[in-house]
Amino acid sequence: MVYFVGAGCGAPDLITVRGQRLLSQADVIIHAGSLVNPQLLQEAKEGCQIYNSASMTLEEVFSVMKQAELDGKTTVRLHTGDPCLYGAIREQMDLLEREDISYDVVPGVSSFCGAAAALRAEYTLPDVSQTVIISRMAGRTPVPERESIARLAEHQSTMVLFLSTGLLSELSRELIAGGYPTDTPAAIVYKASWEDEKVCRCTVETLAQTAQEQGITKTALITVGRFLEGGYSRSKLYDPQFTHEFRKGQEL
Ligand code: SAH
Repeated sequence: MVYFVGAGCGAPDLITVRGQRLLSQADVIIHAGSLVNPQLLQEAKEGCQIYNSASMTLEEVFSVMKQAELDGKTTVRLHTGDPCLYGAIREQMDLLEREDISYDVVPGVSSFCGAAAALRAEYTLPDVSQTVIISRMAGRTPVPERESIARLAEHQSTMVLFLSTGLLSELSRELIAGGYPTDTPAAIVYKASWEDEKVCRCTVETLAQTAQEQGITKTALITVGRFLEGGYSRSKLYDPQFTHEFRKGQEL
């Protein structure tokens, strides 16, 4: 059996209870290099074989899983954050299915959630934005043209950008070309939930300059939108006059 486990975005106690239990029972752990907190590996039982996938190919990862399966062992494939985002798990699952190897997925706290916590922010504010766009700048992995940052920016929604810290000047240009006013608030969240977490607030125009001043070149998320400051409407759910399934509103 192979378990894809979300390690959470940094702090070792952000893994789920289920993930932690599987980690402590695993015979083989394959972890995703530098972005998984090495403290989590202290959960491994004695004799557990531990691999760092940073220097491995898909084929090598799969061959470790396959051998473990032949030996009747349990494997935990530990991915950073939640494995469903930029985790390259589909290609692993497809290989496992092809060989009839059972697997399961255990979610984790994605860094986009860790970043909101670090910012003490809510991405979905009434009358500001009810949509979160998660995307990235095109790098060596291409992004379909219909999903270019400039086109996504037209929505003026809350945006969270992964894997883009090395391309901040281009990112700013695209965000502004897409329609965000230059003074739109933005933030760079470096290593959310790690001990050396850093939160830098700026605007869409000053992203590159801010990262440079703070020496941030990787392991950061860029968040953009009016959710970061300014007004909003209060929620209907907790409005005294609003009636819903569990509460009758009061007339004023
Ligand atoms: N599956 C992961 C994302 C993996 S892609 C998740 O759910 O978070 C790797 C990218 O995620 C990094 O380049 C960075 O943009 C972002 N990232 C991962 N951990 C982070 C953290 N603790 N703080 C800020 N960004 C992080």
